[in-house]
Amino acid sequence: MKALINVDYTYDFVAPDGALSCGVPGQAIEKRITELTKKFHNDGDFVVFAIDSHDPKDKFHPENKLFPPHNKDDSLGQELYGSLKELYKSIDGSENLWYTKKSRYSAFCGTELLLKLRERRIDEVHIVGVCTDICVLHTAVDAYNLGFSIVIHEDAVASFNPQGHEWALNHFKNCLGAEVIKGY
Ligand code: ZN
Repeated sequence: MKALINVDYTYDFVAPDGALSCGVPGQAIEKRITELTKKFHNDGDFVVFAIDSHDPKDKFHPENKLFPPHNKDDSLGQELYGSLKELYKSIDGSENLWYTKKSRYSAFCGTELLLKLRERRIDEVHIVGVCTDICVLHTAVDAYNLGFSIVIHEDAVASFNPQGHEWALNHFKNCLGAEVIKGY
């Protein structure tokens, strides 16, 4: 059984005026990430949205020292971007869709993701979203340590940092044993 994990494709991470935007590389995957999400959802596979949620006033949160405020809880910046937002609205409430907020890079950290996957006997996770070398990477590392097979959709991940993006794609293949594919 497989699942699609959609990581952080939100206004703040993608829009030209987003607070922590990947810029053009992020906007370039919009069509593909939406197509893939629609395909997994239509096929009845489990579709997860794991979305950053922050309180910029939390002085104990490590990201507040590292990055400008982003994905503030319940803000416009935290909303999904572009056609993915439209798709989400059209499938919201369906049984094979699950949205979770997360406060760390990894979709597994501090969320019920592992329980949701184990309940469904899912052993293969497909990951899409941003940034390739931050939240996608940390989610993949946790999936690896927890024994999941990993598929990364190269045409549906992006980063503001081209070197980081390339490095992470190699790391997925060579150190996490992931399949890195496009045109799925
Ligand atoms: Zn964050």
